[in-house]
Amino acid sequence: MNLVLLGPPASGKGTCSNYLKEKYHFKHISMGDLLRDFANADTPLAKMVNETISNGKILDEELTTKILYEYLKKNNLFDNILLDGYPRGLISVELVQKFLKIDKVIILQADYETIKSRILNRISCSKCGKVFSLTTYHKNYCDECGGELKRRSDDSIETLNTRMAEYERLTVPVINYFSKLGLVYKLDANEDYIKQLDKLMEMVK
Ligand SMILES: [Zn+2]
Repeated sequence: MNLVLLGPPASGKGTCSNYLKEKYHFKHISMGDLLRDFANADTPLAKMVNETISNGKILDEELTTKILYEYLKKNNLFDNILLDGYPRGLISVELVQKFLKIDKVIILQADYETIKSRILNRISCSKCGKVFSLTTYHKNYCDECGGELKRRSDDSIETLNTRMAEYERLTVPVINYFSKLGLVYKLDANEDYIKQLDKLMEMVK
């Protein structure tokens, strides 16, 4: 079974992915990580991708889908996949379905105020990457490795609003498309959704 996981920024896709990976042994593919890795290579295409990402611009969906396909093919991954944050728009929906059967689509739903508060309170360790919330964590160093805590440079209201607008414009049509096919499961990610997730996984087994 292949799952797609979608949701606005800071809706908890990372936490959800880790949980599904550990408990249900999905192979997690984060499109963001995949593109960042791709952009580090020393090829003209990688350089172009790197420049586009660094400028906060959106990559062409045909290109990103091709990068995804090459990665899946190289690693022989076509089953038991958790595709995180992709397909991003209707173009990639059509392209991805040519090589990957999408069985279920999980949507993490969170209110704008929840997301805003999470982003403004989010800090992460500059050494190991562990993420903390200023609302519950009061030390000024990482309790895992002692590293320095920093705010991510892209954690601002301005960036959030741009990403929310993109999500509405590109990804909401994707959700509507999969809804019509009866594949969508929406979870309330304003609160702890892990129980909802377990219930869902029982249902879709
Ligand atoms: Zn750390």
